[in-house]
Amino acid sequence: MHKKVTFVISGPSGVGKGTICERIIGSMENIALSVSCTTRAPRRLEDGGMETDGVHYHFITPERFSAMIDEGDFYEYACVHSGYYGTSRSFVEKQKAAGNDVILEIEMQGALQVKATDPEAVLIFILPPSYEELRRRLVGRNSETAEQIEKRLADASNQLAFAYAYDYLVVNDNLDEAVQAVTEIIEASRMRTSSNKKKIDDIKRCFRR
Ligand code: ADP
Ligand code: 5GP
Repeated sequence: MHKKVTFVISGPSGVGKGTICERIIGSMENIALSVSCTTRAPRRLEDGGMETDGVHYHFITPERFSAMIDEGDFYEYACVHSGYYGTSRSFVEKQKAAGNDVILEIEMQGALQVKATDPEAVLIFILPPSYEELRRRLVGRNSETAEQIEKRLADASNQLAFAYAYDYLVVNDNLDEAVQAVTEIIEASRMRTSSNKKKIDDIKRCFRR
């Protein structure tokens, strides 16, 4: 068994991170998607329903978020679009202990915190095929106001500057191809020497007679 890996997926809002992660979780074994904590309000979904607590996010108050920071409960956290978002440390630890790799769908500040504490974490940046297509997807998702969409598009250009810090870039033009690319990155990362030192040690022991 390989040493469990933390995968980080980032990219501008509307690029397709959630869609790709959903497909990966549905198609790959032994991998869990972290449900973040956030202080932002639940949002309308494309199907007209609302985001559900515990499924899309753990929706918590700013006071609770602040107490969790003080208690060291976050693996990483950041303030984005004037809300706080963070990954539960215990979720990551429990999943790895249960034999699962973990995917964090988080933004860049958080990604850099993860890489600083775990240099073996694999950072994947999802790029849109074009600015126009990103706008089309944000508008088509129909879950933000026009003002929020403009803010997210303006933010997207700042976020692109962080892409250089990532290990892999995937352009989400054709969805199936993007999912395939992320799948291959995950499979290859599971076979890295750094994730399999125990296998080498076990084989080496057999040769020592
Ligand atoms: P993010 O999680 O990055 O904010 P979403 O996964 O919510 O983005 O995707 C935004 C919208 O774009 C959704 O309506 C989704 O169905 C659509 N989408 C995702 N990937 C593609 C793709 N490759 N081609 C066309 N539409 C896509
Ligand atoms: P949204 O409000 O669209 O759900 O998310 C806004 C941004 O916050 C997205 O870029 C998303 O990836 C990021 N995000 C979601 N959860 C977390 C988290 O736990 N930590 C960090 N750092 N970012 C997060």
